[in-house]
Amino acid sequence: MSKQKVAIITGGGRGIGAATAELFAENGYAVCINYKSNQPTANSVAKAISDKGGKCITVQADVSQEADVERLFATVDEELGSISVLVNNAGILKQQSRLEDMSAERINTILTNNVTSYFLCCREAVKRMSTNNGGEGGVIVNVSSGAARSGSPNEYIDYAASKGAVDTLTKGLSLEVAAEGIRVNCVRPGLIYTDMHADGGEPQRVERLKSIIPLKRGGSAKEVAEAIYWLACDKSSYATGNYLDLTGGL
Ligand code: NAP
Repeated sequence: MSKQKVAIITGGGRGIGAATAELFAENGYAVCINYKSNQPTANSVAKAISDKGGKCITVQADVSQEADVERLFATVDEELGSISVLVNNAGILKQQSRLEDMSAERINTILTNNVTSYFLCCREAVKRMSTNNGGEGGVIVNVSSGAARSGSPNEYIDYAASKGAVDTLTKGLSLEVAAEGIRVNCVRPGLIYTDMHADGGEPQRVERLKSIIPLKRGGSAKEVAEAIYWLACDKSSYATGNYLDLTGGL
């Protein structure tokens, strides 16, 4: 019998991360659901997976913190075994605002949570996956955003710029580790129905903007999860360094 593959989903307790964790579990992966603060939602995703016979663990870790990331990966090594897939999904945004009202503290919080975190998790994944280090290879999928292209003026250009950095990380790392058995790609969702928009101060943001989307509707977390899964599985075996836009044509 082949070994069960292991996937880490950062920010897997709700939204796109939760849908991704459930989809990987349905496809036979042992899943680590990482969360930062919201233990009840992470536990309910884990319960939904276990109730269907899937294998998963939840690990609290703030992925913007180096020691937490190291503990997260060490816990997975110990409890699930060697990882095949990292989905860098955890991300934050702040209240809609113009640049002239943004403090250095806010900008740095966005960058450490959305960029430093992805770098740190990629680093720990590459250490384990790289054939240079005796690993068996693997796949990294970064969750970027259509905001990397639009720039999100008058809303959150700090967030948009952080996703631009994710795109560049994806390109550079994909080339750095391509000969070591590791593929690195990213998805760039557009307007997706999740609770993230409430954190920006506008829970109904997708409803307000859906008329400008060529497909005339917001996307679902499940639709993004399906694309993440495709990029992680062998069906996309010749894709690396790519960006898959999921924006309904926007
Ligand atoms: P969400 O519902 O707000 O979920 C984000 C999750 O990330 C939360 O569960 C949160 O955990 C976790 N998280 C945040 N910072 C973390 C940290 N430092 N360490 C560990 N976990 C952390 O957001 P979402 O809409 O599903 O978004 C998921 C990803 O898609 C993000 O990267 C986002 O930028 C991207 N995206 C979303 C949209 C959209 O329209 N929704 C569009 C484009 C891109 P806790 O709850 O435990 O704090």
